[in-house]
Amino acid sequence: MDELPGHFCPGCGVERKAFLRYPWHFCNDCRALACDGAGRRIDCFNTDWGGGFCWRYVDETEEALRTCRGVIALIKGRPAYLHEARFGGVVAEPLGSMSNPRPEGVCKITGTEPVAPPKR
Ligand SMILES: [Zn+2]
Repeated sequence: MDELPGHFCPGCGVERKAFLRYPWHFCNDCRALACDGAGRRIDCFNTDWGGGFCWRYVDETEEALRTCRGVIALIKGRPAYLHEARFGGVVAEPLGSMSNPRPEGVCKITGTEPVAPPKR
């Protein structure tokens, strides 16, 4: 198999290992910058060792953790989708017209107030 081409973080340009599953993922440094439309930073976690996804604002307590499928936030002013990575951890990918997640179960914080996932 051919070696994958180099991958460069879409947020800062740093070179990272390429993953076909997440071809445009942000580096961890950029992922840590994820915030809402007012610049309020968030932290994302797996809900347990088996995976899952939850997030909170960094200035909130652990009780504020919101469990959902993923969150749309801003990284360096650009919309990004943060969600559970397949083998644990959290991955942040640019939100592009070809990679919009299904809206069910996804919080949106690109404004100044969190928007809960739409009800089915
Ligand atoms: Zn980066």
